[in-house]
Amino acid sequence: MDLKQWQCKNDHILGMIFLDENSIPRLMLYRRAVDLTAEEPEEVEILGPLWGSMPVKCDVCGDVVPWQISMEALAHMIRELHPHEKKLLQAHLAKGRVKKRTWQKNLAKRRAR
Ligand SMILES: [Zn+2]
Repeated sequence: MDLKQWQCKNDHILGMIFLDENSIPRLMLYRRAVDLTAEEPEEVEILGPLWGSMPVKCDVCGDVVPWQISMEALAHMIRELHPHEKKLLQAHLAKGRVKKRTWQKNLAKRRAR
């Protein structure tokens, strides 16, 4: 497996990036950041793979590093959905569009006044 350390700006290790069986980069997040310069570095405890996008705070120095899900990972997740789930997803995406249109309509109404 291809592994790469994921670090904050002060080189504390927040997790490991690995390529899964579909060559998609995933982040295996550690429960606590690892400071290799410490006299007794923390024992590595893996929290688990991070699926979405979220800011991860280094608990050694407080630096916040945003993890972004890759487009490949997102596409892969959508591809793996059940046909029924894909329909639900489409419905959710359509909901967002309706909201935007309503918002624009309201804005146009307000401007017309
Ligand atoms: Zn740090």
